Order: sequence, then structure tokens, then C-alpha cells
Amino acid sequence: MLNLILFGPPGAGKGTQSEKILAKYGLKHISTGDLLRSEIANKTELGLKAKGFMDEGKLVPDEVVIGMVDNVIMNNPGVYGFLFDGFPRTKAQAEALDALLRQHEENINLMLALDVPEEELIARMINRAKTSGRTDDADSEVQKRRIGVYKNETLAVASYYDQFGKVTTVNGLGSVDDIFSALSTEIDNHYA
Ligand code: AMP
Repeated sequence: MLNLILFGPPGAGKGTQSEKILAKYGLKHISTGDLLRSEIANKTELGLKAKGFMDEGKLVPDEVVIGMVDNVIMNNPGVYGFLFDGFPRTKAQAEALDALLRQHEENINLMLALDVPEEELIARMINRAKTSGRTDDADSEVQKRRIGVYKNETLAVASYYDQFGKVTTVNGLGSVDDIFSALSTEIDNHYA
């Protein structure tokens, strides 16, 4: 299997690049943000619980997102691999993901970290808010909090995988195609 994590701050372009990676490498997408938004749209109990955290730009509790990821992995036996997008976001989630994959005798092969300066992240979130309808992209306080959460809680995930030599950083500035080409080169160098 080829199990990848696409990592980066909010607004780094993970969603856009995920679509291209999935199409090229035939992986199953696991975006916890998308899964949570679909729970909210379906007005499930989990969605109702998650909405308050998301609207405020805070992380949804670890056990909620880990449970969702566990379900997708369990329900997709025989896939070529998974692309994790927006997950793991805490060290506890990373450890839980490793344990889940170990149950299937699998592990994370590579973390691709998109590097984008902070001013550009804010500009992209403002831009995305115009088309996505995402309320968490539209509010400047929420944008700042999400970047703060990334620095305080999520960056530790990169250090966690770095200790196993699994992190590679890619410049997230430039055209969508150029960034995708740089990501593809990294994936191919490591695994294809
Ligand atoms: P995203 O679409 O990945 O930017 O996620 C949007 C929001 O969903 C985040 O600001 C969090 O509130 C929540 N969320 C998504 N993924 C996670 C995760 N792995 N852990 C905790 N909260 C998450």
C-alpha cells in the first residue's frame, strides 16, 4: 500500500492538491474536514457536536476524528492506499493513526508538508470564503485562531513523523500544476 499524509496549515492548498494526487495515484481520500462537514450537512449527532468547535476554529476532540478515520479504513479493505488530508492534526491523532494502520500491518510511507508563508494563507482563506461558503474561512478572528492552533498543536505532528525520517517539505507557492509536479516527484522518488 501507499499511505500518504498531505500536511500543511489552513489555506496551504491541501484540498486542491489532494484531488490531483488521488487522480494520479488511485488512493482513497480521507479528509477529516470534509467528513465533518458532511456530518454537519446531514445533521448527525456527531456533526452537531463538531460544529461549535469548527465555527470557532478549534480542533474537534481527538476521539471523534479518530473514530471517523477508523470507520473509513475498516470500510475500505483492498484499496491501493490512503491519502490523509487534514489528519492527523495532533500528536495523539498521529499515534492513534499509526496504531490503526498497524492493525492492518500497514504504516505511513511519507508525509508531504506544504510550506506557505502566513500572509499568503490568510489571503487564500479570504479568497476561498467567497466560493466555498465556509464560515470558518470568512471571519478574520477564526482565521487567526486556526493558524494559532496549527502552530501550537499541529506542527508537533511533523516533528513526530520527522523522527522516523518520513517528512519531505515542498514549496506551496506557485502555480497549482508546479506544486503538483513537485509533490509527484517526491512521491515517485520515494515509492512509485
Ligand atoms: P479543514 O477542512 O481540514 O480545514 O478542517 C476544518 C475544521 O474541521 C478545522 O478547523 C477543525 O475544527 C475541524 N477538523 C478537521 N480535521 C480535524 C482533525 N484532524 N482534528 C480536529 N479537528 C479537525
